[in-house]
Amino acid sequence: MPGPRDVLVRVEAVGICGTDLHVFNGEFAPTVFPIVPGHETSGVVETVGEAVRELSPGDLVSVDPTLTCGECSFCAVGRSNLCENWNGSGVARTDGSTAELVLAPVRNVHRLPDGVDLGLAALIEPLSCAIRGYDLLPRRLGEHYLIYGAGTMGLMMAQLAPRAGAASVVVVDRNPDRLQAAKDVGVEQVGLSADEVARRGGFDVVIDCTGVVAAIEDGLGRVRRGGVFQQFGVAPTDARATFSPFRVYNDELTILGSMAVLNTYQRAVEMFAAGVLNAQRMVSHAFCLEDYADALEMFRAGAGRKLQIRPQASASLQLL
Ligand SMILES: [Zn+2]
Ligand SMILES: [Zn+2]
Repeated sequence: MPGPRDVLVRVEAVGICGTDLHVFNGEFAPTVFPIVPGHETSGVVETVGEAVRELSPGDLVSVDPTLTCGECSFCAVGRSNLCENWNGSGVARTDGSTAELVLAPVRNVHRLPDGVDLGLAALIEPLSCAIRGYDLLPRRLGEHYLIYGAGTMGLMMAQLAPRAGAASVVVVDRNPDRLQAAKDVGVEQVGLSADEVARRGGFDVVIDCTGVVAAIEDGLGRVRRGGVFQQFGVAPTDARATFSPFRVYNDELTILGSMAVLNTYQRAVEMFAAGVLNAQRMVSHAFCLEDYADALEMFRAGAGRKLQIRPQASASLQLL
């Protein structure tokens, strides 16, 4: 039974992302085993605790996995994504949603409007991370963007860029299938390397969505004078990249990071419902619960687009 302010959710879809692989490999520092993975969740309210008035059984919902303490120095200044006791369900200390049912505090459960595609709505969690990235970018209208990586995050950052005022958006990825995905969601200019799409003077905004050192170093070199580089992709904790401190000084470059979600979840719900993402082209496979190992293997191989687990399904399905 849920606690007084908890909600029990019947899981419809849960997305697999790079963090799950890090968790599985034991490379994600906050993870305490054993843990049920899964942090990109959509579903239907099954039951609610006795003190929950905001939601009712049958409501369509998206579950924010972020659990913070509300008491540490970072929470106190409104930067709870840096919480000293940061916990994410499915990735740290609380069981996630790769299961038929998942429990979450009511404040983490966001109601979705009627008519939303509940399976695709598992994209809302990564979308909330992408919006956080944009919250941090010092940006102006009419700028030129270069994005490394055409996985889910790269595709989301690329689809949001025009809404953030970009004059042009270029996506590079070494995988031609992923470049096709970028074209499918409306990116006009793509390349297998940034050399193919080089821009005189560089790019105002360069965003790394790969976490790969070679891409990061290449990207830092392509930021225009006065421009900004955002580290969005998750690099291994021991990775090291080199850059020119002289250029950062002389060209007034800004280098900034973006970590998870901060006050962006509700906006992600609204933007998803408004159709800002070409979500249909982003989710390629829906696996049943029994095939989780196959899904992880396929993700590791870099095949398909967004892979999901659909815990209520009896068989795995290819959607694209
Ligand atoms: Zn994720
Ligand atoms: Zn805290």
